[in-house]
Amino acid sequence: MTQFKTVRGMRDLLYEDAETMRYIEQTARQIASLYGYGEIITPIVEPYELLAAKAGEEVRSRMFTFQDLGDRRVALRPEFTASLARVVATRLRNEPRPFRLFAVGSIYRYDEPQRGRYREFWQSDYELMGSSRPEADAEIILLTDSLMKQAGLKNHAFKVGHVGIMRGIFRQEKLNEKVQDEIMQLMDKKQYEDAFKAVENAEASEKCQQVLRDLVATGGKDTSAVIDSIREHVKDYSSAVEAAGNLNEILKLVSEGGAEIDLTVEAGFERGLEYYTGMIFEVNIRGLDIALGGGGRYDRLIELFGGDPTPAVGVAHGIDRMMLGLQEQKVEHGGQTEALVTVIPIGDAMRSQALRVSRILRDANISVETEVLGRRMVKALEDADRRKMHYAVLVGEREMKEKTVVIRDLRRRDQKTVTIDEAIEIINQSRTERS
Ligand code: AMP
Repeated sequence: MTQFKTVRGMRDLLYEDAETMRYIEQTARQIASLYGYGEIITPIVEPYELLAAKAGEEVRSRMFTFQDLGDRRVALRPEFTASLARVVATRLRNEPRPFRLFAVGSIYRYDEPQRGRYREFWQSDYELMGSSRPEADAEIILLTDSLMKQAGLKNHAFKVGHVGIMRGIFRQEKLNEKVQDEIMQLMDKKQYEDAFKAVENAEASEKCQQVLRDLVATGGKDTSAVIDSIREHVKDYSSAVEAAGNLNEILKLVSEGGAEIDLTVEAGFERGLEYYTGMIFEVNIRGLDIALGGGGRYDRLIELFGGDPTPAVGVAHGIDRMMLGLQEQKVEHGGQTEALVTVIPIGDAMRSQALRVSRILRDANISVETEVLGRRMVKALEDADRRKMHYAVLVGEREMKEKTVVIRDLRRRDQKTVTIDEAIEIINQSRTERS
């Protein structure tokens, strides 16, 4: 017989893992509501062209793509931003700005599977569309900080850069877009020597090559000192100077906004997606050297999808990686569900009564597992013990005639005959004692 496994890079999430995933999803939803982001649900399958438009070569080459039966070229979404930009360019076109949009769900990329890297993974995504002002960029960073804290993660740190610094230099050097994109991809992968080689091959000036080397070596936590030094390096490239000024404003707003944030500026930091036009960032936690989330400003994507010019900034958080972070840091969370009570019919004749009693308990908001294996009482009780349940409710013929049940306290190992209402009271009483 064939033993089926999950497709490579895709996982089943069992019990605790599923609960942790839903807990993070719930936390993400809570943050969305605290910051006024409305949830949007979009299809997992989208037109290939939409997703490929500005995703960048790295993501484009890793898409799950296929022809559907109507011969359309479609793909599984490798991110949310394109779908949300489509929504703004079409359905929300005539609505007042800004838009604060939230999405959460599964994402698909043909990445090489390893710890924290899967082919199906989950993201929570926040997009603030319609503002080009630095306070919008600051809000996205602060929101990410809130999410990490609210989820219970400790020691998270931000790495921030600005696409406009390098792009400004390349544009002034008249490098074409394709070459620029290639260089940015190499920088994103930290293949700096290859990036410098590509700059040289593109016949950029000697000065440009030197400035790039200087920039890659420029970074640190003293943000205003780093910005000053970036400004000094790029002083001959006017739009790069402007970009550094914009980054400075954003970072000032973040720090004056009151949050204690661990933040490093890196002038040579790039991200793989081609649509970025401004500030970019990643969030990491110590001990887990992979990014938990990343985002940035993309001012031209919505226009590209046929919408009105709409500056925008957003972030996506990797829920699977946040799960790893919680495990690594041994963070307890309150999301766990527990069935405290088992209801056992004494003999087959009592099966329907056991279902009825279970339903009454559930109507009182008590989690109940009903015995469905037809086991004798002793066996069913042994199993309930093993699974650390707190109560067994025994449904016998004699008790039913008297409209009672036997409630057995599995920890104290005593039992008494009570009405169903009394049983509910006893169970609720023990729940309040424990909480
Ligand atoms: P990106 O859309 O590439 O900026 O990714 C945003 C976040 O999604 C990253 O910071 C990761 O936390 C997460 N992520 C990206 N790719 C994967 C993957 N293959 N497996 C798990 N999480 C991922």
